[in-house]
Amino acid sequence: MTVHPTVAAFGTAGGELAVGGIPVSRLAARAGSTPYFAYDRGLITDRIRSLRAALPADVQLSYAVKANPMPAVVQHLSGLVDSFDVASSAEMLVALDTTVPPQRVSFAGPGKTDAELRQAVAAGVTIEMESENEADRAARIGDALGVRPRVAVRVNPDFALKGSGMRMGGGPQQFGVDAERVPALLKQLGATDLEFLGFHVFAGSQNLRAESLMDAQRHTVDLVLRLAEDAPTPVRYVNLGGGFGIPYTGKDQPLDLAAVGANLTELMTGTLRPRLPEARVVIELGRYIVGESGVYVTRVVDRKESRGKTFLVVDGGLHHQLAASGNFGAVIRRNYPLVVGNRFEQEPVETVTVVGSLCTPLDLLGDSVTLPRADVGDLIVLFQAGAYGLTASPAAFLSHPAAAEMLV
Ligand SMILES: *Cc1c(COP(=O)(O)O)cnc(C)c1O
Repeated sequence: MTVHPTVAAFGTAGGELAVGGIPVSRLAARAGSTPYFAYDRGLITDRIRSLRAALPADVQLSYAVKANPMPAVVQHLSGLVDSFDVASSAEMLVALDTTVPPQRVSFAGPGKTDAELRQAVAAGVTIEMESENEADRAARIGDALGVRPRVAVRVNPDFALKGSGMRMGGGPQQFGVDAERVPALLKQLGATDLEFLGFHVFAGSQNLRAESLMDAQRHTVDLVLRLAEDAPTPVRYVNLGGGFGIPYTGKDQPLDLAAVGANLTELMTGTLRPRLPEARVVIELGRYIVGESGVYVTRVVDRKESRGKTFLVVDGGLHHQLAASGNFGAVIRRNYPLVVGNRFEQEPVETVTVVGSLCTPLDLLGDSVTLPRADVGDLIVLFQAGAYGLTASPAAFLSHPAAAEMLV
């Protein structure tokens, strides 16, 4: 049987799966309860190393905090990445608590309220403006505070990233200003007291096809160069987006990172550096940095037979890890990798269905999976829980207890 690459990256200890070298049963005792999320800091560090090795040295790396906003994770990453991208004032405050300076924090997202804009202007972070209206409000708030807002224009591109799990650019969008309207906005900016820095283009997410990402990067660079001609001041910031995907299911092939890196090197040396010499060029990634570093660990509370099918019922479920149930943007539900963590080195002997403890058929965590024999008390570990896990799940649904979180 081939082991999923995400599973293979974790260590073992005493026959168990280990996170940060510690067996999952020991971590359960340390947490005091199950279910829990554990993030392996060594894997996060390794991931940044491989990104740095593949990307050109003059492309900076930004972490999209919404993928995993646990303060300890953000702190750990503050020593490894160049900047943070936040999508709420609460995320902004977590980022500002780290050693990353405010000028290296960018705030994107539609529907920023006046209160959020005020916090962002006061903090001195870069506001990635999603509309003309937001530009007006930022200028007014800056006047009132006596602080010159630092702004970039988020552009809704005139192309789409093909093959993305989530499309966030191209066609009509709530994100960003349509590319064809940007020149007029830039003219407007020249007349206001906003400090214009540059552009942000984010075309989509969860893409495993290097060719599509490379294509989008080329289009993004072309678009930015075109828009730069109308900029009121030289462009000092170019955020090329990201969208690097991770292999969630057994059917997914990992992204060819080397190919994407080589393409970026070509774009940097061939066009971006010569044409926009003052620009800080950024790639922003969330799931690619943390997604594979995390596990969600649950305990079997019941083992039951029903008309020829064996069910393992665990003490967690979709209220903590919605994505594993297939209800967070998946078109077709497929199992995330899953193991019996405290019997990690035992041979698979039976096919079972793993379900959560919520009273809904949606709470399916592993459909007909082949596992070692597991009983009440054993630990079922779900992988791919490092991004869009706990904070992307409906924690209040059915009012079950919260899950613990640890960075190990
Ligand atoms: C969500 C988001 C990201 C991160 O997406 P991933 O798929 O986790 O890499 C990056 N940039 C923006 C603007 C986002 O909204």
